[in-house]
This record gives sequence, structure tokens and C-alpha cells, in this order.
Amino acid sequence: MGRIVAKFGGSSLCDAGQFRKVRKILEMDQRRCYVVPSAPGRRFADDEKVTDLLYRSYRLKRDGQDYMQAFSLIRKRFVQIAEDLSVKVDIEKYLDKIQAEIEAGTTEDYCASRGEYLNGVLLADYLGFEFVDPKDYIFFAADGSFDSERTNTVLAQKLSSTEKAVIPGFYGTGADNQIHTFSRGGSDVTGAIVARAAYADMYENWTDVSGFLMADPRIVPEAKSIRNITYRELRELSYMGATVLHEDSVFPVHRAGIPTNIRNTNDPQERGTMISHGAVEEKNPYVITGIAGKLGFSVVSVEKAMMNSERGFGRKVLQAIEECGLSFEHLPTGIDTMCVVLSSAELEPVKEQVVSRIMEMTSPDTLTIHDDMGIIATVGRGMVQNPGTASRLFSALSKKQVNVRMIDQGSSELSILVGVDTKDFRFAIDAIYQEFVN
Ligand code: ASP
Repeated sequence: MGRIVAKFGGSSLCDAGQFRKVRKILEMDQRRCYVVPSAPGRRFADDEKVTDLLYRSYRLKRDGQDYMQAFSLIRKRFVQIAEDLSVKVDIEKYLDKIQAEIEAGTTEDYCASRGEYLNGVLLADYLGFEFVDPKDYIFFAADGSFDSERTNTVLAQKLSSTEKAVIPGFYGTGADNQIHTFSRGGSDVTGAIVARAAYADMYENWTDVSGFLMADPRIVPEAKSIRNITYRELRELSYMGATVLHEDSVFPVHRAGIPTNIRNTNDPQERGTMISHGAVEEKNPYVITGIAGKLGFSVVSVEKAMMNSERGFGRKVLQAIEECGLSFEHLPTGIDTMCVVLSSAELEPVKEQVVSRIMEMTSPDTLTIHDDMGIIATVGRGMVQNPGTASRLFSALSKKQVNVRMIDQGSSELSILVGVDTKDFRFAIDAIYQEFVN
């Protein structure tokens, strides 16, 4: 029988009712043998996440202020879950120990990690699974980076002799033997690490949405969810601002050839979004897979007659930018023009330096900087060798009178990037969605 690693996010485990849903989901498929929980999330719109309360308790104590009120909210939440589920474990004892550690001046990461730890203790008891503490199996190197090879060796060995386990997300142990956490949202990363070490057939990431949407629902309220997406497409969309998964959670499973399935704990019949390595079994109903965009870019355009025959021109422009401490995002070029797309926030403090350095090094005919730009990526494996996609996209934009300031299509043909003025940004995303989906 194959194995599935199921990671449940904070909203999926925010109270006893959600714990019951999780147990049902696990019972539906016996292959779901390793469970990675987050800390309890929000139960209602203005509720507080347990992790936020833990960070607050830490800071208040550090600053010599009263942290007991914040900690009592944490205590209340865990005691409530334990009582509602009638678990055997004495959760008050665990809470007392954590409180004593905070009192004694423990580290921020230790404090922050306790939401996952306690949720894991409760869940393991409730499910009758073994509790596997990541402090003994997930490691960080001395420079703070995740030590993937040591972790994989030690964790794989542990899992090979563990049938069913709950492994809390978000933390492990550093070279200093202290608890360290991943960045916020890092339980996704733990789930991916466990999936790799378990040689899992699937990494399921259970959340409160039925997968990735084809576009940001704040811009396109009717955006449909994506059924199948490749890791490469996901990378393009995430890079351009689409978020569901922690960025670092993609690599371990992608490398191990394990598909990720984003599922909805509140609607487990929904198939969600399947992220896989290569070819997907089901054909995408649309030419495009998704649209994502980001604001806050500037385009530096350098123009010079006969630029193309001037050897080293491009290198000099990029060198000038590098010398000013910037890295570029995109690089669309024409015959006599070269455009470099940069983050406006990074460019702003060194703008004059960039202009004078490029002028000195390349003596261009003109150099202009256009700020306030948004970049929109239209991504889809269906666009590859599908003639007419670009022309549909541009005519959709021109019909809505959106002025396209920059175009960039990588040779992979997996995405088309367009730069538009900030004021046209939302309008443009909606126009592209309507053209390809509705
Ligand atoms: N609880 C942590 C956070 O809120 C990690 C996670 O939920 O993935 O960031």
C-alpha cells in the first residue's frame, strides 16, 4: 500500500470540530499515514492565530511587560480542544512547562514552535498515532539554512519503522541544539520534507480553499480553480505573486517526483488542485492555466542606434545595474532597445547612480525610466506551440484600451509577461481572464 502525507493548515485544526473533520478525512483513505499539523488558526474573521499569540507572549516577556493575558488565550484554546475531544493527555501540564520556559526567558523560535507542538500532541492522542517530535528529525545547519540531507537520512530511517505518526510542522533543531523554525507558513515545508523522507506517493496539503484559483479572486471574483498544474507553471505563478503554498515547500517534493494535491478540509469531496512533475493525465480545459501579477516595478529603457552590433552593450548595462547593488527581474530586448525591469523599491534609493553609471558605460541615445508598473504573467503549458495565444491576449488588452508597456515571452513559451501601468493592472488581469476562460 502506498503512503500519503497529509498536512493540515491552521484553519483545518482551529477547534475540536475541525479535528473531527481531519479524523474523517484520514479514515477515508488508509494510505494517509503521516500527518503534519499547523498550529490552530483563526476560527472567525477577527480571531487570532495561536502562532501570533505565541510571538506576542515572547515579545511582551522580553520587553518586561505582562505576557500572561496573551498566554492565557493560548491556554484556553488548547484546553478547550482537549476537553471537547476528551483526549487522555494532560494538556495543562504541557502548557505549564511552556509557560515556565517563557518565564525563564526562552528563545523566540522555541516559543513560536509550541503551537504546532501542542496541536501535534493533541492530534496524536486523538487519532491514536505516534507523536514524532521534529526536534529529533529535522535539522538546520549552523548558518540557519535547512539541512536537507541530514534530515532526510535520519527522518527516512525513523519513518521506515513507524506506521502512523503525527509530526508537527514549522520547526526542527539547529546546530546549537536549540529549536529553530522555518519562516512563517513553514508547516508546508515540513509536510514536503516528510513526504520526501517517507517516499510518499502523494503530498496532500489540506487547507480552507479548494485549490489554486486561476486568478486572484479579489480581482476576478468568479475565478475558477485549477485542476492540474505542473511544478514549473506553479513556480511561474508563485514568482509573480500567487500564494497558497510556502515557496520552499515545492522543491523537496518536486525533486523527489511526488505530486502535491491542495485539498479543502471543509469540502473533502472536491478534488482540489493537483501539482505534478510533468505531463498530467487530464487535459487542461483552457489554453492558459492561470494569471498572476505584481505591482511595484520600474522599467529602465536604454536606446541606441546600431546597439545590436555593439559587442558587450548588454553586459555593460547589466554590469552598471549590478554595481549599484540591484538584481533585475526581467530583460525584454528589441533591436536597438534594451529594457531592464527592476523592483521600484530597490531602484528608488540608487536611481541617480544607476542612470549616471549606464550613461557613462554605454553612452546611449536615450535612457528613460518608467515607474508605477505592474507585471502580469499569463501562464500555461497549453500555450506551448499553440499559435494565436499571444494575439488573443493582446487583442483582449487592446479592446479594453490597456496600454502594454512591455512584453516578454520566455523561450519556454510557458508564460507571456506584460507590463502595464498600475492604473490598468486589475483591468488587464480581468480582460485576460475573460478572453481565455469565459
Ligand atoms: N504556525 C506557523 C505560522 O502561522 C506555521 C504554519 O502555520 O505553517 O506561520
